[in-house]
Amino acid sequence: MPRIRPEIESLVRYSPGLPIEEVAREYGIADIVKLASNENPLPPFPEVSAAMAEIVSGVNRYPDSGCFELTKALSGATGIAGESLWFGAGSSELLTAVARAVGGEGTSVVFGWPSFAMYPINAALGGSEPIQVPLDSRHRYDLDRMAGAIRSDTTLVFLCNPNNPTGTYRAASDVRAFVEGISDDTLVVLDEAYAEYVVADDYESGIPLALARPNVIVARTFSKMYGLAGLRVGYMIGYPDTIGSLRRAQIPFSVNSLAQIAAITSLGYPDRVVERVKVNRQGIAFLEQELDVRGIEWVPSQANFVWMRLGPDNAALCQALMERGVIVRPLSDEWARVSIGTDSENRRFFSALDGVLAKS
Ligand code: PMP
Repeated sequence: MPRIRPEIESLVRYSPGLPIEEVAREYGIADIVKLASNENPLPPFPEVSAAMAEIVSGVNRYPDSGCFELTKALSGATGIAGESLWFGAGSSELLTAVARAVGGEGTSVVFGWPSFAMYPINAALGGSEPIQVPLDSRHRYDLDRMAGAIRSDTTLVFLCNPNNPTGTYRAASDVRAFVEGISDDTLVVLDEAYAEYVVADDYESGIPLALARPNVIVARTFSKMYGLAGLRVGYMIGYPDTIGSLRRAQIPFSVNSLAQIAAITSLGYPDRVVERVKVNRQGIAFLEQELDVRGIEWVPSQANFVWMRLGPDNAALCQALMERGVIVRPLSDEWARVSIGTDSENRRFFSALDGVLAKS
């Protein structure tokens, strides 16, 4: 047998929401609703598909490794200088690259828990010790406890804001105070995969912090709001020197040419983003209202999913929902995360849930 690093051998692999095709095969169901991966239930903007179709015959060539046009487009849309932008095959690739760049023997990574399942995996890939800090009683990142958990060997902190899977957030003033209290040789990643969905008045992106402080970077993605999860394109924003160093840990050509043109085109329709935020809030309100009707506890969400307490039978209930063609994610003993779907998908979730609860 080949010699595998022990920290890799003992890793629990990232378990994604099951693909629709797999559930269809396994349970022989045709009509499946996937509310398990916080994807956008809507397709990409139609102009995106058209732009991809136009260049698809050119994929015999490697993509532009430096993402020149995409950098220009995002820079134009946000006013952020190109040297502060870094693109990857989803923000996942960049989160892993960062963990590799600042990890190594004798380092540790601090993050809240439950949170994005890739954080502990990234810690292992980077060869760092993972330090999980429980969320506070309101299911939010507990920033005081996080600050207390940071050690002198901590080279990386993940702060997911809003947090996946709870949908909770920390206000701008709290994030700023947290970041200001951290030693400047510890890198703080503010993971804002769901930032476009936030409507809370006291939330602010950490982008200004990242542009001002070499030890802070923000992670964003085109996977959620823009509906490009299947193409894999995300980015980080940070201090030019920091980005310049971190990007050495990335493989070349990771953002494919279709993803690049899709992201560029998506940036051209800010009004549609505003509309999608509205539709998402309607979905959240519907879930909250229907959960109340059933006496199921839920946590207020600023993202495109709701964290709900299905109770001690959580895993069995989620399995039974899957057998009825509705895929959701049990992500702790008693709690499940359900992504916002289209109106009919959200209704289907409740009809399946009612069926399952009636049987249990
Ligand atoms: N961060 C968070 C908090 C996420 O929930 C996700 C996707 N589930 C990602 C990053 C990665 O997204 P992507 O790689 O598609 O950009």
